Amino acid sequence: MDIFKPMDLQSEDAGDKEKEIGNVEKVRCLIIGSGPAGYTAAIYAARANLNPVLYTGLEMGGQLTTTTEVENYPGYPDGVTGPVMMEEFKRQAERFGADIRFGIATSVDFSGKKHKVTIDDNILIEADTVIIATGATAKYLGLEAEAKYAGMGVSACATCDGFFYKGKDVAVVGGGDTAAEEATYLAGLCNKVYLIVRRNVLRASKVMQDRVMNTKNIEILWEHQAVDLFGENGVEGASLVRKKGTPEEENVRIRIDGFFLAIGHTPNSEVFRDYLETDQVGYIKTVPGTSKTNIPGVFAAGDIQDPHYRQAVTAAGSGCMAAIDAERYLADMG
Ligand code: FAD
Ligand code: NAP
Repeated sequence: MDIFKPMDLQSEDAGDKEKEIGNVEKVRCLIIGSGPAGYTAAIYAARANLNPVLYTGLEMGGQLTTTTEVENYPGYPDGVTGPVMMEEFKRQAERFGADIRFGIATSVDFSGKKHKVTIDDNILIEADTVIIATGATAKYLGLEAEAKYAGMGVSACATCDGFFYKGKDVAVVGGGDTAAEEATYLAGLCNKVYLIVRRNVLRASKVMQDRVMNTKNIEILWEHQAVDLFGENGVEGASLVRKKGTPEEENVRIRIDGFFLAIGHTPNSEVFRDYLETDQVGYIKTVPGTSKTNIPGVFAAGDIQDPHYRQAVTAAGSGCMAAIDAERYLADMG
């Protein structure tokens, strides 16, 4: 199936990079990213004798290293902390010989049959296959309080953390489909959900809007903006401003235990965008049901290609798919 449009592929500095850097390391399978998708791809690729080299990026272990308890990953009936779980993923990949290195992919050249990836601006890798697993980063409002209460009432993932707020009062910020979906999900668990919307309309689709409007324990706070959070040992409330910057501006305080951000995600695809087709937001497009991108031999796994589920288990599953796709691609190359 051809779902991709032809692209004008850039190859501006490939030759220059080679001259500049000198030695080029050749690898069969290069994995970029060390979250659940990258490490799972490394486990499968190593077991398939592809001798994978994985570059971790700045956040070794990925997004889960920023959380405490993970309770929905199968195989951990008593839960596990994100950092411990990711250390176990890493150990499992290393056990099969994956070569895990610290470094960031700073530029790529996917214009030829061999895929060139520059690491930290000074290491040039020439890979037969590349698996991109660079994740997507949740957007925050930029309040100091978000950092102060990280893991203590502030979350950007209702599916992940909602359960910790069972029977409590929470707020969701945002007016898009994610906010509507997360508010509806939380309404099934929590006593009360405030939906904090900065305008007087929702951006969410009609069907999602209807769902929010028809859920009794969701209260929409129209034209409100969160400006601070308060609480002794965790979030106990939020300070909001209604109709900010207008003559009717007023300060409002709500009592909540959890504060959920749902104002969008930024996929970490910037480095690849000259070569890989993405959607409007920047998620890398893959052929449905596979990890194949528009460039043969380049695969994408995890949140970087998934605007919908964004869970550790789905990321791990797609990392497995990418390694199998890479293995089959190499077998076909002979
Ligand atoms: P990520 O985990 O985002 O990893 C991306 C990796 O790419 C990182 O290692 C980063 O360093 C690397 N990288 C990025 N750019 C580059 C580059 N240029 N070069 C090299 N490397 C690069 N999901 C659940 O299922 N259960 C939970 O309980 C849960 N809790 C969560 C709590 C929090 C606070 C957050 C933020 C997310 C949570 N999630 C949870 C979601 C889950 O973390 C993600 O769905 C999952 O981590 C996605 O995995 P990934 O491998 O695609 O990417
Ligand atoms: P989105 O559509 O970009 O919506 C982001 C929302 O956050 C908007 O309502 C925006 O307000 C608000 N926002 C942004 N910055 C803010 C700030 N600083 N302060 C307060 N509010 C802020 O993002 P999304 O909801 O994550 O959806 C992303 C894409 O995935 C969309 O295409 C969506 O349709 C899709 N999606 C679909 C489903 C589904 O179909 N089930 C579920 C989830 C996501 P404004 O409206 O004022 O700009």
